[in-house]
Amino acid sequence: MKRKKFLLLRFLSVVLACGAVSAAPKPNVILIFADDLGYGDLGCYGAEKIRTPHLDRMAAEGVRFTDFYVAAEVCTPSRAALLTGRYPLRSGMCGNVERVLFPNSKGGLPPGEITIAEALRGSGYATMHIGKWHLGIHEGSRPLDQGFEHSFGLPYSNDMDAKPGLPKGSTSSATPPADGWNVPLMRDGKIIEQPADQTTLTKRYTEEAVKFIGDHKTQPFFLYLAHTFPHVPLFASADFKGKSKAGIYGDTVEELDWSVGQILEALRKENLQENTLVVFTSDNGPWLIMGEQGGSAGPLRDGKGSTWDGGMRVPCLAWMPGRIKPSVSSQLVQAMDWFPTALSMAGVKLPDGVALDGINLSPHLLESLTLPERPYFFYRGPQLFACRIGPWKAHFVTQGGYGSQPKKPHEPPLLYHLGDDPAESKDVAAQHPEVLKKIQQAVQTHQSQMVPGVKQLKSNE
Ligand code: MG
Repeated sequence: MKRKKFLLLRFLSVVLACGAVSAAPKPNVILIFADDLGYGDLGCYGAEKIRTPHLDRMAAEGVRFTDFYVAAEVCTPSRAALLTGRYPLRSGMCGNVERVLFPNSKGGLPPGEITIAEALRGSGYATMHIGKWHLGIHEGSRPLDQGFEHSFGLPYSNDMDAKPGLPKGSTSSATPPADGWNVPLMRDGKIIEQPADQTTLTKRYTEEAVKFIGDHKTQPFFLYLAHTFPHVPLFASADFKGKSKAGIYGDTVEELDWSVGQILEALRKENLQENTLVVFTSDNGPWLIMGEQGGSAGPLRDGKGSTWDGGMRVPCLAWMPGRIKPSVSSQLVQAMDWFPTALSMAGVKLPDGVALDGINLSPHLLESLTLPERPYFFYRGPQLFACRIGPWKAHFVTQGGYGSQPKKPHEPPLLYHLGDDPAESKDVAAQHPEVLKKIQQAVQTHQSQMVPGVKQLKSNE
């Protein structure tokens, strides 16, 4: 009898739990993307001179990933991959010579590509892009063409559109001329300020984000907040300039940290925190040739522009209190995973006939399950340079980020154990031929199935 009663109670609790799940509103999704922030630039990743209390708290309340990769070593392809869930080669959003889009580039994210915004909007989500776009300025590629109902920010990097006669070295100067760049600030496709006052961008992006959250308390939303900083030239507002112990670079990161604090606070205030997945990460590693303006990859080798880990392994935090348990995850996770993860959490079907390169992280995030082992491929432009499986990473070609080390093919490939050797300094290929063979087979399979898209990054000239 007792057993029956127990079973009945258990049945009722399952029914109630299921009812609660089905009645739960669709979760909101916020992706916050810093620009050129390195693996070692946050307190929770070991930074000592930059104070990031809000991001450290977000890490303590959520998942902090130690082995998270973006899909490219530079800006445009990394963003294309984040929003589409596909290696940039598939959309044509990568290049050998022109490695990112420039104001005179003729291409952009092809209209046929499906972004997270497009996929979620079809399911009743409000969608907004704030910050840097850098996925094209022509019809078909702009934010409003790619699933965003609203957009506020810069069409490309803040160092493009430099005014003629800008003194050499201004980009890396601690006090760049505020009017040195002519980059426009746009709202919903229209220029509202030119040149954009870069000293107030982080503040204004944050205000827009907080307003968007407040305006959509009762409708599910997707917010893509792609910060302009800490990409050079660096500008912080008066409240943050000169306040960090890491120069203007640290000032801009501390202002980003403040911004994240404001956004999480807005979610708490609206009681949306348990129903909003917030992800914070960076588009690529630190721009090391900028010296003190360029951030730090911590213990990792090289930085932006390179397929060494410092170029593509970046901080990543995922936060959803009450749903995601606080933890540090060393699982291999990557930017293209957020597309299927966001769709899964929203209950949206994956698009038919689209080759996706990410996996749904929900079982890992919500149930702490281990992810399946899978290869990760490191591209520089359209060429595959390296591959990681488990702790092992093989390099077939290496090249420094920006001229620091010439392009060099490796036969046999270099092999590193990233667990023992995160700085990729001791080649152990000779001792582990079986590992190399496994990685080479994975590369062969991947390449045999890869269908490259039409190249988008060529300039008009
Ligand atoms: Mg970048």
